Amino acid sequence: MTPRKPSPDLPADGFRFSPIRPSQQPGTPPCNGNCPSGTRIREWIGTVAQRTKLGLTKEEAYRRAWESLVDVNPFPAVMGRVCPHPCESECNRIEKDGSVAVNELERFIGDYAIEQDWPLVRLSSEPRDEVVAVVGAGPAGLSFAYHMARRGYRVTVFDRHEQAGGMLRYGIPDYRLPPEVLDAEIGRIEALGVDMRLGSSIGEDPSIEDLRRDFDIVFVGIGAQIGRRLGVPGEDGDGVWAGTEYLDAVNRGTEVEVGTDVIVVGGGNTAIDAARTARRRGAAVTLLYRRTRAEMPAIEHEIDEALEEDVDIVYLSAPAEVLRDEGGKLSGVRVQRMELGEPDSSGRRRPVPIEGDTFALVASTVIVAISQEPDWTSLDGVQHDRGWVQTAADGLLDPKTYAGGDVRGLGTAALAIGQGRAAAETAHARQEGTAYPGNGAKPARRGEPRVKLDLYEEKPRVEIARSPVADRLADPALTVSETIPEEAFLTEVSRCLSCEACFGCRHCITYCNPGGFFDLSEPAAGQYFRMDLSVCEGCGKCIEVCPCGFLSPEA
Ligand SMILES: Cc1cc2nc3c(=O)[nH]c(=O)nc-3n(C[C@H](O)[C@H](O)[C@H](O)COP(=O)(O)OP(=O)(O)OC[C@H]3O[C@@H](n4cnc5c(N)ncnc54)[C@H](O)[C@@H]3O)c2cc1C
Ligand code: SF4
Ligand code: SF4
Ligand code: SF4
Repeated sequence: MTPRKPSPDLPADGFRFSPIRPSQQPGTPPCNGNCPSGTRIREWIGTVAQRTKLGLTKEEAYRRAWESLVDVNPFPAVMGRVCPHPCESECNRIEKDGSVAVNELERFIGDYAIEQDWPLVRLSSEPRDEVVAVVGAGPAGLSFAYHMARRGYRVTVFDRHEQAGGMLRYGIPDYRLPPEVLDAEIGRIEALGVDMRLGSSIGEDPSIEDLRRDFDIVFVGIGAQIGRRLGVPGEDGDGVWAGTEYLDAVNRGTEVEVGTDVIVVGGGNTAIDAARTARRRGAAVTLLYRRTRAEMPAIEHEIDEALEEDVDIVYLSAPAEVLRDEGGKLSGVRVQRMELGEPDSSGRRRPVPIEGDTFALVASTVIVAISQEPDWTSLDGVQHDRGWVQTAADGLLDPKTYAGGDVRGLGTAALAIGQGRAAAETAHARQEGTAYPGNGAKPARRGEPRVKLDLYEEKPRVEIARSPVADRLADPALTVSETIPEEAFLTEVSRCLSCEACFGCRHCITYCNPGGFFDLSEPAAGQYFRMDLSVCEGCGKCIEVCPCGFLSPEA
């Protein structure tokens, strides 16, 4: 096809040619904008997918991809197992043949780095004078510690538990997150010289005020350790556990006798984890949730797996009373049926009791996993509003103190990691007298993509094999799914559309008649060509054939 020549004159047939010239317009893909940690997903996946064009060996590409990941989040192997992956629900590929399996890819590269024993990268080899205290060795505190230590700060982390990891270790069960994976990723942070003071509770001695006196910067990442109570008759007494207490005991290796009939109350991750853990101890488990499946906050596939494991989920139901015999021994729960009313402040429809509609269930143990709140016992000196710390978006609480993670509101591990990083970057910028650089990713959503899905070939999403239910129940620590094999990893990275960043497909070069595109001598992911618009004939073909939307009409 010969492109039409641009002409300012109106031809005799009345047709006016409007030249369309390309401009290179990189955009933020929706996946990046929806990772609470701020991971540069397109960049790291693209580094592996485009390794040949970038002149990298497979090993070099893996290493570079992992370094891009841990530049943001030091826990890829952990997050690859537990993150609810909001990045995937916004992936542009979803409408074609399923989102890119970002979470599985992260797990593969995270595990690969552990096998290879790759160390975390320092940003400065010069030690600094400032000393930093971190209260809480959960994902928020460890993320803050890591981002400060790699900039040369001398960091001490205090945690009341005997091992680091917070809810990643003492909340999430081993069948979802094996302790050795967590140990490996925490060990790398310690190897940067972070001093871990475990079994050290901050409160009366030392107090937060003592830390503020002795350290230049203090980060508060104490999480939300206390399980909320039901507030119904009969709750006080033996046989009733908070979900976090129960999981904490099991994760420490304490044998908790739950009996034959366990009732779990709640619809979040803690409730599902507690229910599945009790099933692995041989109990019949009924989970009561006051709304419907559609409103359940737990991770979708965890709910599916709980159902596969025969956890009986009773929706639209809530405990009205914990029943006890005359000796005070737990015997059951009187359950109130609910219906959904008007939406509440969260936007979800409020559960309303149906008057007179109750029934009784037998119970040997009741596990209450409805919510948690921070534990301020003996912990003065941190401002909070009804238990929750309010900070600016960058985590700044006062000129010396920062906070992040669940203590600012219940969230996810990815959010805690992102908040720890934002606080560290703010703290560092303040020490340097510069402005906080921002976390890079701008929210971008599906629905306004420049990507042309039709120009990509169909490629089905990787299938994840899950272990048989009987094996899971027989071996409580057995992981439900394996890390995907390398072949599947390499196929899956090739499914990424590289939304709004050049991936060197060469369509533009092929279709540009006057030859206006030139290879860069040192290509990088997202940058392969320069354009010479002086020869452009304005046919717009390059824009039409650019699959990822990187080439857009010049404004
Ligand atoms: C059972 C369960 C399952 C979950 N599943 C998932 C999941 O699958 N995916 C996901 O993304 N998120 C999940 N979450 C949420 C996630 O674990 C939390 O959002 C995250 O751990 C919060 O991190 P954090 O660092 O703020 O707090 P935490 O992880 O709670 O860590 C806080 C740390 O502070 C320490 N501490 C508290 N007070 C003191 C003190 N006074 N002195 C010294 N140390 C102190 C604690 O010992 C603890 O180690 C789950 C949570 C639970 C409870
Ligand atoms: S941390 Fe979660 S949201 Fe972020 S890239 Fe990984 S899976 Fe996606
Ligand atoms: S296709 Fe790739 S770049 Fe585009 S949204 Fe999905 S993961 Fe991100
Ligand atoms: S057509 Fe291909 S090579 Fe050309 S700019 Fe678009 S993605 Fe890059």
